[in-house]
This record gives sequence, C-alpha cells and structure tokens, in this order.
Amino acid sequence: MPELPEVETVRQGLNQVTLQQMIQGGDVLLDRTVAYPFSSADFLAGLRGTAITQWQRRGKYLLAELVSRDGGDGEVGAAGWLGVHLRMTGQLLWMHQDEPVQKHCRVRLLFPAGQELRFVDQRTFGQMWWIPPERRPEEIMTGLALLGPEPFSPEFSVVYLVEQLRGRKRPIKNALLDQGLVAGVGNIYADEALFLSGIQPQTLAASLTGKQIERLHQAVLKVLQDSIDARGTTFSDFRDVSGINGNYGGIAWVYDRKGEPCRVCGSGIERIKLAGRSAHFCPQCQRCLGN
Ligand SMILES: [Zn+2]
Repeated sequence: MPELPEVETVRQGLNQVTLQQMIQGGDVLLDRTVAYPFSSADFLAGLRGTAITQWQRRGKYLLAELVSRDGGDGEVGAAGWLGVHLRMTGQLLWMHQDEPVQKHCRVRLLFPAGQELRFVDQRTFGQMWWIPPERRPEEIMTGLALLGPEPFSPEFSVVYLVEQLRGRKRPIKNALLDQGLVAGVGNIYADEALFLSGIQPQTLAASLTGKQIERLHQAVLKVLQDSIDARGTTFSDFRDVSGINGNYGGIAWVYDRKGEPCRVCGSGIERIKLAGRSAHFCPQCQRCLGN
C-alpha cells in the first residue's frame, strides 16, 4: 500500500505535468471508484472545464485545487477539489490517450494535446471525490478529519508523541499505524523506523522511555525522508505518474526481508504477525522491549 513517501512522490509528479490545463472530459469505467458525488456523471460534470492549480497531500490523501475560467474574459473562479486515495493498489498515470487502456483502468480524465490522467487500480479499493466549491474537503472525505498531524509538521513533536503514547497498552507498531496518531505512516515505514530506533514492534507503547520515544521520533522522520529521496518504494504496485517504481526497497533495513541478513549485524530478519499485519525486525539490533 502506498504510504506517505509514495503519495508524496505522486504529488510531486502530478504538479509537474497536470497543472493549468483544462480538463476536457473523462470516463468512469468503474462507478464505485467515485466516492462522491454519488453519480459518476455528476463527478465528471464537476471536473469538466476546470483546471488544477496545485496538488496537495494530507496523510495518504491527494487533493487537487480546481479553478474554472468563465467564457473568454479569463475570469477565474474556485471550482472545488479533486480528491484521490490510492488505497492498496491505486496508480495515477500520465499517459497519451492513444495508449491502450489497461485492464484495471477505473477512471480517465482527458487533458489537452492528447494527454490524460488515468486511475488504474487492480484491487479497486481506491477512491476519487469531486468536492463542490461551496463545501470543504473534510466535510465529504470523512477520513481527512480523523488524521493526526503530518510527520514533518511542528505539531508532530517529541512532546506530542510522548503524550500520545503515555498509558497506551497496545504494541508500538500498531500505534504507529494509527493515522490519528500520525498521518501517512504504514507497514513499511513503521517497521523501518522501529529498526532504526532499536525497538521491537510488539513492545507496549506505554513502556517506552522518553529517550526511546525521542529516538523513534527521529527515526520516523529519517525513514520517510530517505524514501521520499528515493522516490518511494519498490514494494507493492507503487508507480509514480510516469509508471516508474521507486528505489527504497533496495535500501530497506528490515521490511520484506524475512530470513535475510541484517544490514548491521548479520542476524536473520524475523517476521511476526501483529494485529493481522506482518512486522519485520532484527532480533539482535531491536532488543528494546520497553522497561
Ligand atoms: Zn541486526
């Protein structure tokens, strides 16, 4: 599943290719990909004739700000938002309209010069929204309102993390996956951050010391930034807008490396199940089980 670095990589790519061009129309090939409005025709009608001024990211959500131009006088008006969540396997691909349409293509948005933005999604959990200008995205994309702070924002401080983890009896790995605690961290980067901070994933959040939480906080920021720098992960079906895989998989510490030697100490990486998800760790380097 795409996490913050992958969604950020897609956002940066979309800002390079899709801005300030009139959306001329489109096609919804799978109705349930459109989460709002309830009719796919209304979704396309809302987008037609608008242009994207910029793409933003909040957690794993993408939000494109739309404007419309009235007639020939060049007057610009707010035209709402286009929201996207890639979920498990969603991909936003910038392509030529004459390229063969993929089997798992769900939505096509047509741009000038024969270009288009395709939403390709094998597992079909991905979602798109058109938010009318008189509404706020948080009112309609309900997951947005539940998100905790962005990891790179001042709100996600060591003090905040200490407060949030105090008294929490759940494993620290599960806490990191909670989008209400911090937005955008998923299975890959939670495993990686716990490796860098020497903490075993099943350690109870409440048992961590301030020093350990400080190390974890630094590690979360480092693994996310390292992956953004590598343009996202090779794991899963992630592709950037040009259809290219990222590079993070090749440098991952523990994620998806069960049985392979730890890059620091050579011990075999182990995998356990936590809350239905796999967690990877090095039994030597991650000896911290709390107090
Ligand atoms: Zn190790």
